[in-house]
Amino acid sequence: MTGAEVREAFLKYFERNGHTRVTSSPLVPAGDPTLLFTNAGMVQFKGVFLGEDKRDYVRATTCQKCVRAGGKHNDLENVGRTARHHTFFEMLGNFSFGDYFKADAIRFAWEFLTKDLGLDQRRLKATVFRDDDEAFGLWKSVAGLPDDRILRLGEEDNFWAMGDTGPCGPCSEVHFHQGDDLPCAEVAAGRPCLGPACECDRWLEIWNLVFMQFNRDASGTMTPLPRPSIDTGMGLERTSAVLQGKRSDYETDLFAPLIRHISRLTGKPYGADAEHDVSMQVIADHARATTFLIADGVLPSNEWRGYVLRRIMRRAMRHGRKLGLTEPFLWRGVEWVGEVMGRAYPEIVREHRRLTEVVRQEEEQFARTLDQGMRRLEEFAQTQGAGRGRPIDGRLLFTLYDTYGFPRDLAEEVLVDQGWRATDETERAWSAEMEAQRERARAKAAFGGDEDASDTVALYQQIGGSLARPQQFIGYETLTAPATILAMVAEGRRVREAATGDEVEIILDRTPGYAESGGQIGDRGSLVGRAGRAEIVDTYYRGSKLIVHRVKVAEGGFHENEDVAVTIDSPRRQGLRQHHTGTHLLHAALRRVLGTHVAQAGSLVAPDHLRFDFSHGSGVKDREIEQIEELVNEQVQANIPVTNAEMNLKEALAAGAMALFGEKYGERVRVVKIGDFSTELCGGTHLDATGQIGFFKVAEEGAVASGVRRIEAVAGTAAVETVARRERVLREIADILKVGADEAPQRLRKLLDEQKLLERQLAEMETKLARGKADDLVASARQVNGVAVVAGRIDGLDPDGLRAVADTLRDRLGSGVVCVGSVLDGKVNLVAAVTKDLVKRFPAGKLIQEVAQAAGGRGGGRPDLAQAGAPDPGRLDAALALVADWVGRQG
Ligand SMILES: [Zn+2]
Ligand SMILES: [Zn+2]
Repeated sequence: MTGAEVREAFLKYFERNGHTRVTSSPLVPAGDPTLLFTNAGMVQFKGVFLGEDKRDYVRATTCQKCVRAGGKHNDLENVGRTARHHTFFEMLGNFSFGDYFKADAIRFAWEFLTKDLGLDQRRLKATVFRDDDEAFGLWKSVAGLPDDRILRLGEEDNFWAMGDTGPCGPCSEVHFHQGDDLPCAEVAAGRPCLGPACECDRWLEIWNLVFMQFNRDASGTMTPLPRPSIDTGMGLERTSAVLQGKRSDYETDLFAPLIRHISRLTGKPYGADAEHDVSMQVIADHARATTFLIADGVLPSNEWRGYVLRRIMRRAMRHGRKLGLTEPFLWRGVEWVGEVMGRAYPEIVREHRRLTEVVRQEEEQFARTLDQGMRRLEEFAQTQGAGRGRPIDGRLLFTLYDTYGFPRDLAEEVLVDQGWRATDETERAWSAEMEAQRERARAKAAFGGDEDASDTVALYQQIGGSLARPQQFIGYETLTAPATILAMVAEGRRVREAATGDEVEIILDRTPGYAESGGQIGDRGSLVGRAGRAEIVDTYYRGSKLIVHRVKVAEGGFHENEDVAVTIDSPRRQGLRQHHTGTHLLHAALRRVLGTHVAQAGSLVAPDHLRFDFSHGSGVKDREIEQIEELVNEQVQANIPVTNAEMNLKEALAAGAMALFGEKYGERVRVVKIGDFSTELCGGTHLDATGQIGFFKVAEEGAVASGVRRIEAVAGTAAVETVARRERVLREIADILKVGADEAPQRLRKLLDEQKLLERQLAEMETKLARGKADDLVASARQVNGVAVVAGRIDGLDPDGLRAVADTLRDRLGSGVVCVGSVLDGKVNLVAAVTKDLVKRFPAGKLIQEVAQAAGGRGGGRPDLAQAGAPDPGRLDAALALVADWVGRQG
């Protein structure tokens, strides 16, 4: 059975048993900003299980696209090295939403495995949760399994929970016996293999049935759910491997064609060299993840989801180099993956061009990175010579990484080849540099990237570290507050005082000022002290999340430790709130109108406009823009409350997201929710309710990069002004046309039609005139050595028109030499044409050279037709007079 057949057989089987076939949801989970990627079939049904969502079916079956990258269960570095780890995989599942329960779930699983797939039942065992006598009994009665083939396992293996609270319950797994010839650590240690409970590969888990039976509350008490549910997951790759008698997923027909392509491209056989095999498996796996992630709207970047994708892509590229590929190659993977999976997932074929382009760009960028790094390493080798066992300097590795993005392991590899050695010392130096860089990066990100001297960074870190209490941001609640000046910095140095006219950075113990982040620009306002007044011109982060106000002292002065009153510019902040909440609405509307592949690629929130970049393959049509505006304005009119809640990231995030995400956002995250319409992780300042937006208008739509579009939009007063401005333009047009605004388009169209007609008439007249002129010229033909020669000028013709005239003249002569010139816009055009019978004696190309030269220009062409341009109209007549001479001279 092919992978595609297994997929289809599964879905068909459950359809036959009353399940609705539901399409896989995108890899970027809709409405769940805390989850890195869709990683299981149940993700799209989470709300249904929680009772928040209703569907018009109670049984569903899916083949779900999943990505797991990073995190404790799927270390990226393991992928490709084992038979089973994947970044991208497909999960088959059947779901019951309060409909059937354990008995049917077990019956379905058993019937499908043994009848539809025809697996040998003697090679199957089941596991159940320790206390789940019900499931144990069902495996006996429904499947007829003897006691010794049903294992009771503990909570760790066989109990599932959606979170700390909420639905949970025991699970039951089906395992397949691959064979006792496979290595087992237990056996090697002189103990018996633990079977399905063992770490080894002798028994392979193929299906997990989750029985959602209880609801756990905050105190940990579990109460039975009134309508228990079923959630199951079966890996398509490993099931296909079992059915195809393969012990590695990479040998199944889901991967083998990809491996063959890679093998062909590299000229290296698969199965001959273990390291090469790993590289090929890495590329095959990562090509799938790359293709599907980009298709679902993720773009390689340095942030969150985009960063995971970039790591996956770069790892594949690195392994390509290990196989000797020096040219970009991963982009071909899009097509390979399309060949294998395009039928089941038409989006990867449909978007083929965009996907290929994104991958190629990333590859080219990475290739530049590698080139720069390699050059630097060569320089190093020239100055330092061979390593002769000396330890590699971790700082060198870091510089390469930091300056060029050159991967450390690659640099190490190159250096080890030259006789250097990676030691603990290397590691220590690297880690120290990495830590310092992290600090710098934080400061830089917070400051918008124009930070220079690392001592300034150090200074802010020192100030941050010296605070008695952490600085307080109180800008969600208030716009004005008393505060104390803790420190002042001018030109990178700490100062005790600031006087009139000084521009300094001020750190307060608490402030309502919002520091630029998450696209929202920093607040402005004023600072009033006992003897001075200053204007806050910007607010941003420095050091490790230290809010800094840049101020201009307008009057008097300030000193350290002084108590001041801070006031944030309230209308400006209101504009920021309108545009930030507007951004969230726009984002949600885009996903609804264009599709869930839309993912934020960048955002700017200003007091008077917003800019939103997002992944989308084509331009947004006018109709779609209208729908988006309509949808947003509907939310505005519904005046939906905007709520926010702080949550614990650790609990909220999948293990894989933690490492990337935790650092950037800290332990606590703020989730901003606008009814059911939008949910986003966001630290920005928002309106209390959408009605305060007043009115929302898209001002501009365009492309920023391949696959990335940009929308500029306005809210509130700015939106009204935009419309008013457009209205003025329209009125002006109507005034010029002397009609009402409503009739303007029709009038304009009519005018343009008339213009087109006039142009056509004019062109006809010109042709007529030229033809008349041509008649004159034919009549003026001279005989030179028995050859008819026409030379003359018709001004006002462009090269095309002139060529048409020359053609006509040549035809009319039947046999002869033609050369015509024309002056248009102060420049000379020349065309020479010669009839077929004379091209040997009088090649047009030669003729035109001579004539053009005489007019100060240059030209050339075929023996029968040639053209030229020249700068000097004053010399045209003299040049044309040369034609007859030239013909005479050719004998
Ligand atoms: Zn074992
Ligand atoms: Zn936001």
